[in-house]
Amino acid sequence: MPVSDSVERSDATATGGDTPSDATDALPINELFYSLQGEGTLAGVPSVFVRTSGCNLRCWFCDSYHTSWEPTHAWLDVAAIVEEIESYDTADHVVLTGGEPMIHDASVDLLETLDDRGYHTTVETNGTIYREAPIDLASISPKLASSTPTAERDPKGDGEWADRHEAARIDLDALGALVDDYAFQLKFVVTDGDDMPEIHDLLAELRAVTETPIEDDDVLLMPEGATQERLEETRNRVADLAMDHGFRYTPRLHVDLWNDAPET
Ligand code: SF4
Repeated sequence: MPVSDSVERSDATATGGDTPSDATDALPINELFYSLQGEGTLAGVPSVFVRTSGCNLRCWFCDSYHTSWEPTHAWLDVAAIVEEIESYDTADHVVLTGGEPMIHDASVDLLETLDDRGYHTTVETNGTIYREAPIDLASISPKLASSTPTAERDPKGDGEWADRHEAARIDLDALGALVDDYAFQLKFVVTDGDDMPEIHDLLAELRAVTETPIEDDDVLLMPEGATQERLEETRNRVADLAMDHGFRYTPRLHVDLWNDAPET
């Protein structure tokens, strides 16, 4: 049964669950489902998705609104999460996503348990928090200035989160450690060419602090848009930018297939 069938609102995340949880054996789960990985180098791989609730950022375009702006979840202990994952017996890939899953201590326990059971794990992270854990692919999505929820773009208020988001969205130390310690991909949500100078600047800063070389094909450009209608506007533009700049393009396969349906 999808966990989201039993999701409930919790006062514990009334502020967004944006402070690291000190619970080590349970996670606030927004949804848990089986689908195809839609983005990045593993696009198309059948995977179980574990979506935690709570994020330390507030991108205006967040495509998991109910993990950030209005977080909802059910608390599940790690054993129950693993039992649910194992019920999908054709899957050997697990994607831990959010929200920002690295804000939770118990994410490490979940990853260790999955590693013990032989699963390939991908962690989808905004790259602002580093944790030591058995992660097979760190899928790092640094947030560009265009993500900031200014008063004009705030989906919920009048830009109250803008300063806090802007101050937290890039952490070079955390980004560098993720790149150096894990197999990684750097995935940028791109709206148009105005985003490109910032991507090049960030890559230059990051390459200066990492020991691991960052190749251009480690860098993926992903069109902004959580609906097929919006992707119609951004997809070809971003594909052209990928070719112009020598980076990879990644589709949003789940949006192409199922639009903005939940649990995809
Ligand atoms: S970092 Fe990800 S989950 Fe958090 S607000 Fe931005 S898009 Fe949403």
